[in-house]
Amino acid sequence: MDGITTIIFDLDGTLYCSKPLADEIHRVAVDGLSQQLGMSTAETDARLAAAKSTLAGSSSGEVTLSAACQELGGDIRQLHYYLAEQVVPEPFLTVDSRVIAMLGRLKADYALYIYTNNNRRLADRIMRAIGVDEFFAGIFSVEDFWRSKPDRLALAKLFAAIGAEPAECLFVGDRFDVDLRLPEEHGSRVLLTKTIEELLSLEKLCQKEID
Ligand SMILES: [Mg+2]
Repeated sequence: MDGITTIIFDLDGTLYCSKPLADEIHRVAVDGLSQQLGMSTAETDARLAAAKSTLAGSSSGEVTLSAACQELGGDIRQLHYYLAEQVVPEPFLTVDSRVIAMLGRLKADYALYIYTNNNRRLADRIMRAIGVDEFFAGIFSVEDFWRSKPDRLALAKLFAAIGAEPAECLFVGDRFDVDLRLPEEHGSRVLLTKTIEELLSLEKLCQKEID
């Protein structure tokens, strides 16, 4: 791809898709937050949903769990420690050999990174379970900046850490507002992928521009 040296992937919903795992993370997050806030899980779930719709109305659309947690007065560090301890991702995940093969080929031509709002422990377990842990030059998780996507300062620090100009980077993610809007504003290329089939189209995009 013209001038692109670096591809930065979101993890959850991008390199794998599992609604049951997303539901389990949500269930554990509600459980952890209910303990922090001293409320029942039903009330916490309702307040989380209300916080998400309030935030969605005042911002650019999709709202992250971290943002909704902070809106409720919760502590995102504590939330992530709880998620890291309580979520068991492996039963929800399988290896997709097409994704592994694609990353293996892309790694020959591009520096590959992960930039996720997930915590490092869960991200590592998920990456091992889907078989993609060996392809990345670096992983940026929520602990790196404790500023979840989308965040300008965290993004600036990421560009500095990988030593790449925004125009050299392609960001791949499943939520435009969370993963892609800010990088695009900075002049990066972006690719929205909501399914594994769409993720696999990344390679064709790269090839088409080389041809
Ligand atoms: Mg995602």
